[in-house]
Amino acid sequence: METKWYEDGLNMIEELTTNAEQIQDELLREILSRNAGTEYLRQFLHGQTDKQLFKKNVPVITYEELKPFIDRIANGDRSNILLAEPITGFLMRHELVALVWQPKMTPVTAEAAQKWELFRTLYESPVMKHFGDINQGGKRMELMFARPEIQTPSGLMAASVTTSIYKESGFRAMLPKFYTSPVETIFCPEPEQSLYCQLLFGLIQRDEVVLFGSVFASTLLRAIKFLENHWQELCSDIKAGQISHRITDLGCRKAASLIMKPNPQLADLIENICNCKSREGIIRKLWPKANHIRCICTGVMRQYTAELEFYSGGLPLVSALYACSEAQCGINLEPLCKPADVSFTFLPNMAYFEFLPVNNDHDESIEIRSNNNEDTEPVDLVNVKPGYRYELLVTTSEGLYRYKVGDILMATGFHNNAPQFQFVERQNVAICVDQEKTSEADLFKAVKEAKALLDPLGFVLTEYTSYADTSSAPGHYVLFWELKEKEGNHCKEFDPKIMVECCYRMEESLHYTYKIYRKKSIIAPLEIRVVKQGTFDAIMDYYLSKGASLSQYKRPSCIKSKEALKILDSRVMGKFFSPKSPL
Ligand code: AMP
Repeated sequence: METKWYEDGLNMIEELTTNAEQIQDELLREILSRNAGTEYLRQFLHGQTDKQLFKKNVPVITYEELKPFIDRIANGDRSNILLAEPITGFLMRHELVALVWQPKMTPVTAEAAQKWELFRTLYESPVMKHFGDINQGGKRMELMFARPEIQTPSGLMAASVTTSIYKESGFRAMLPKFYTSPVETIFCPEPEQSLYCQLLFGLIQRDEVVLFGSVFASTLLRAIKFLENHWQELCSDIKAGQISHRITDLGCRKAASLIMKPNPQLADLIENICNCKSREGIIRKLWPKANHIRCICTGVMRQYTAELEFYSGGLPLVSALYACSEAQCGINLEPLCKPADVSFTFLPNMAYFEFLPVNNDHDESIEIRSNNNEDTEPVDLVNVKPGYRYELLVTTSEGLYRYKVGDILMATGFHNNAPQFQFVERQNVAICVDQEKTSEADLFKAVKEAKALLDPLGFVLTEYTSYADTSSAPGHYVLFWELKEKEGNHCKEFDPKIMVECCYRMEESLHYTYKIYRKKSIIAPLEIRVVKQGTFDAIMDYYLSKGASLSQYKRPSCIKSKEALKILDSRVMGKFFSPKSPL
């Protein structure tokens, strides 16, 4: 009997994870032998390809160190700078580089598309094993947003990784059959029009939808909130069989004209669902055949899981993959696992991975290791130790050598011989006002403790970010909180006393160094500024206007941009301070 494609995928995962060490070594050998003659590697390896020499001589680098080489390529230098093969373009992710919001660009070659395709097969296989082959029974309602590409002086184009995937001819060919969003809506340059249309097409094809998703959880929540505000307009379009005048994008209008016809029955049905007092379980009600929600709910997205669960109606939230613009990394072999427990199994054929041990010296829950040589040198994929945290380094066939991606991961175990990791946090998003350093994970933990106090009041925290206010001495932490009333809450007012208590609870839940600094008045009392609803949407819009992609948007845990701070400060409704220093 013929095996299903995902069974082949599962077999391949077994083979790859069993032979992890050998595959990693072969991959490194191949990358080095192809590129030993490049200007970059020559300075360290002098044409040699030996693994030990690579580890001894090739430095671990950040984007800042890579940037001069990238800039030369982007400016038209065609010599073999990073790669022997021709570079076909750049992938870009928008991040703060030296405190300026700008794209980080990394090269791509013709090979990249095939790698993403293989990675998709591999991360989808365990999901299909649980939910059945969704390609057979229906369509995916995946919200996808391409961003305009940027032309570099060399003529090479730079695109976000999702845009480059959506551009692939193989992917576009699959769209009409397997996805509800027509290509025109994905490439619509106006994020809001694109979202409106993708929701419209998803609603029209609701009976075929077997999966509701997007890359990150925040995009899905944005979509649900948008639906809450626009369902009447969407229903009236469905009733009339014509798209609203708000949609001016010609591609979207054309796509709508091909599929829309008046359907008052469907419009009434959707209206009844959306008009209900409670929005609990709305995703399941609107898309009754969907069997799971697919989006990344780990890392900075963890804050959205509770809200998404409320809307999901019990549909499992599946974080299927861990990847970045620079490399495809890991897949989730247990799709039904709760978001907080998800580990990603690394695939040894995707990149050559190394792991730089990190000490989390103020986290009492982590074993602190002595700082001997062994502990500071990057370790190979198969040599990581469960329970330890590492910073990820990648060496890729796309011209990155021992490159710091900027993610901190914790090894949790092994599948065959390939390690599994939980995503911990982004490196360098720490907030600090003095010598202390509070990481993304520290903040998450403290916010989680403090927000529990809101529960009895009937409020939920929907978004937060932080800012180190050093405008006066001593400096202090500012937390921006966006709150939402729980359904059925009639109290409307939030109690200032509770907010003050939240400030204190946050301080109490922060790390030891923070508390000592507070006691010695090196840090002033923590402040929570409650902002109006919709503020974090405005922040997202601000970053989208700066070129970030809605598909890849991640809310910053710590605000460093003056403009973003202005947006937040202009919407503050109340300021609260911690009343005393934590014990
Ligand atoms: P980008 O290059 O814009 O796609 O962003 C990649 C970054 O997203 C990674 O470096 C991580 O910080 C984050 N990311 C990707 N996948 C996950 C995941 N499964 N869990 C948590 N964060 C993730």
